[in-house]
Amino acid sequence: MKTPKPHSTVFVRGIAALCALGVLATAPAALAAAGGVRADASVEFKRQFGAAFFDQYWHLHADTAISVGYYKVARVLMIPDDKARAAKLRFLRTSLAKLQKITPATLDPETRTDRAVLENQLAGEIWYLTDFRDWQWDPSLYNVAEPFALLLNTDYAPLEVRLRDVLERLSNVPAYYAAAKSSVKNPTREHTQLAIEQNSGTLEVFGPELEQQIAGSTLTPRERALLTQRIAAARTAIADYISWLKAQDQALASGTARSFRIGRDLYEPKFAFDIASGSTAEALYERARQEKERLLTRMDLLSDELWPKYFPNAPRPNDRLDKIGTLIGKMSEQHIARGDLFKEVSRTIPELEQWITDHNLVTLDPEKPLQIRITPKYKQGIAGASIDAPGPYDANARTYFNVTPLDDLSAERAESSLREYNRWMLPILVIHEAVPGHYVQLVYSNKSPSLIKSLFGNGAMVEGWAVYGERMMLESGYGGDTAEQWLMYSKWNLRSVCNTILDYSIHVLGMSEADAKKLLTREAFQSEEEVREKWRRLTLTSVQLTSYFAGYSAIYDFRERLKKEEAGHFDLKLFHEKFLSYGSAPVRVIEDMMTGGGS
Ligand code: ZN
Ligand code: ZN
Repeated sequence: MKTPKPHSTVFVRGIAALCALGVLATAPAALAAAGGVRADASVEFKRQFGAAFFDQYWHLHADTAISVGYYKVARVLMIPDDKARAAKLRFLRTSLAKLQKITPATLDPETRTDRAVLENQLAGEIWYLTDFRDWQWDPSLYNVAEPFALLLNTDYAPLEVRLRDVLERLSNVPAYYAAAKSSVKNPTREHTQLAIEQNSGTLEVFGPELEQQIAGSTLTPRERALLTQRIAAARTAIADYISWLKAQDQALASGTARSFRIGRDLYEPKFAFDIASGSTAEALYERARQEKERLLTRMDLLSDELWPKYFPNAPRPNDRLDKIGTLIGKMSEQHIARGDLFKEVSRTIPELEQWITDHNLVTLDPEKPLQIRITPKYKQGIAGASIDAPGPYDANARTYFNVTPLDDLSAERAESSLREYNRWMLPILVIHEAVPGHYVQLVYSNKSPSLIKSLFGNGAMVEGWAVYGERMMLESGYGGDTAEQWLMYSKWNLRSVCNTILDYSIHVLGMSEADAKKLLTREAFQSEEEVREKWRRLTLTSVQLTSYFAGYSAIYDFRERLKKEEAGHFDLKLFHEKFLSYGSAPVRVIEDMMTGGGS
């Protein structure tokens, strides 16, 4: 049950570091004192970076447009060749230059942070194209599945309209994969294999289910014939890309492949763009190492307390890791039955909502009920539980909490999942994904008046909020404030902490696979299967796995600082609602808004 990327946070990549660009280098108070704010400047910014700008932006980012609900470009499938990249780069550079002519000090605080977020986004995208160049070494970036699946499965228009959009969009698929083949140079073996696997899944999007949809529609015979013809051509192009990749993979097997480790020179700027915390990756890594020790110390004490209850007749192991691991193993036996996952999640959500309301933690919007459903087939296998939220352009669409039943798993794998999401862990998962985690944050984010901050959401803020929510709920007494609940929580939290340590160690410090797996098994108490999956994710992504701890630690520190400063009159509910009201902006920007810049 990995955490998914909600639709409206697809844009986590390319959020630049504010400090690196000097955007917030001048204290907001000083700006206000200088009397530089001009009402017409903010109006001018909104005019220049309003609807017309975004229309152009989405035409150059047509794939992601559909995932944020911008269906106007449903028929556009960009051919990812040098020409398209050059056009995108030109647009990004021109826009960035235009934006940088607007002096931040002249803008009101809300617009000033919009400017900062957009500047990060544009500069980040330029950096990805010119320096990171994953379009060259990551063949899995070329995959047409998701937008097609969204068009076919989202009710943004009647079926016939959607099928006609699909019909138009399909015409570029062969050219798309031809461009993919000429773009890819010296790829990593890991991403090549991922591309083979994922594009094989893509074939299913153009399978029997689509044929049924066509059969059940009122398209004309001519349209049907054309659609059938284009689907066949698309399938041929995808199959051809897969066999081309297989040949690449064969050639790479000889040991000349590019390493999946991105190295320090790319890691620090990527961290600065994606996380936008104003701090370095190295500093976060050091902090995570300290946090791991703090958590293990606490788990050691909790285990001493719990040991006699679970093992009345067995001596306590001397080694603290053995002791904690054995105890967690024993406690994990307390889990729901295989067939009860959907029922249990459905029961937990209203319970959490009631708790949040009763304990004055954050106001929930009764107008936006969360719908729990079985994960649609085309998404199964991605995650055991996930949130599917509409993007800001389609904020009235439903939000779904997807639960993938364990039906298709072997008995052994189902048991392993159930033990992981045992009676103490499953509620934490629901807190993270739904209330008050991703779902609540997204409802607030889509209500935020800033389209820019809703669209170019900061991944560390989004994940950080969900991780913060877990601890906050337990602090409020949810789960009974028991030693068991805190021990399991610590194991869960240790995962984000170790993700940060490992991501940096592997990509920058060259940590070996054996050492990484040892750390996960021994010091983070992960099952073999989880360790295998985590290693794979570490080889396929970089920086993203640090976003959880980066955001969580920043939010937690900020809250604790405010608590101290507002001693006696700190209001937790008010803090949460204010924090969520700025859209998915970097924590650093929100902090600035809440403590000076915003007032
Ligand atoms: Zn998450
Ligand atoms: Zn069991």
